[in-house]
Amino acid sequence: LATLSNGIEKANLDLAYEEKMISKYQKILSRKKYMSKRYQKALRTYWKWQDKKTNKIKDTYHKISHDLVQTYDLICMENLNIKSMFKNKYWSTKLQRIALYSLVEKIRYKAQWHNKEFIQISRWYPSSKNCHHCGYYNKDLEYEKEWTCPQCGKHHNRDINASKNILHEGIRILQEKIIKNLRDGGDSTVNLDALASTAREVRILELHSSR
Ligand SMILES: [Zn+2]
Repeated sequence: LATLSNGIEKANLDLAYEEKMISKYQKILSRKKYMSKRYQKALRTYWKWQDKKTNKIKDTYHKISHDLVQTYDLICMENLNIKSMFKNKYWSTKLQRIALYSLVEKIRYKAQWHNKEFIQISRWYPSSKNCHHCGYYNKDLEYEKEWTCPQCGKHHNRDINASKNILHEGIRILQEKIIKNLRDGGDSTVNLDALASTAREVRILELHSSR
């Protein structure tokens, strides 16, 4: 579902069982006489499984958004790219796409509640093709899961490299926001706190990776 810049991965939902039951009852419904007693009984079970599936998505996304907002002071995310979602087998169904939008919305409003920074990066920002270590732009990169930077020799996991670039871009946007806020005479305490704790975390991560 998501890869974080510190290497943590959030697993995608497993809805296989719910989907199997839904299609099973769809088939049962098609064989019954419309609106007969048996049809109505099967219809109730069919809706029960639809509800189970929807609730599972809702609960999981509530938990993920809650955890993210509780754990991190600065959350940077790429704007959703509809085109690539159609190509991804996980996000190709309409329900999944709607669910993903709702996850982003949950993160957004929970971040606001808890005074955390939530920054969305333009989908045109080349997060995957830049080496986060030296900035080299790898124009030949397509869908490879891993690649080695020809300039600095660092080996990258595609998603982790992209998320580190997104974080760097998010920090840059946050810095701009703070400067603008201070210039306008606003209070930037909250933004500064987020920036400071993120900078600490990034420094710790970089120490770890250089060892
Ligand atoms: Zn590099």
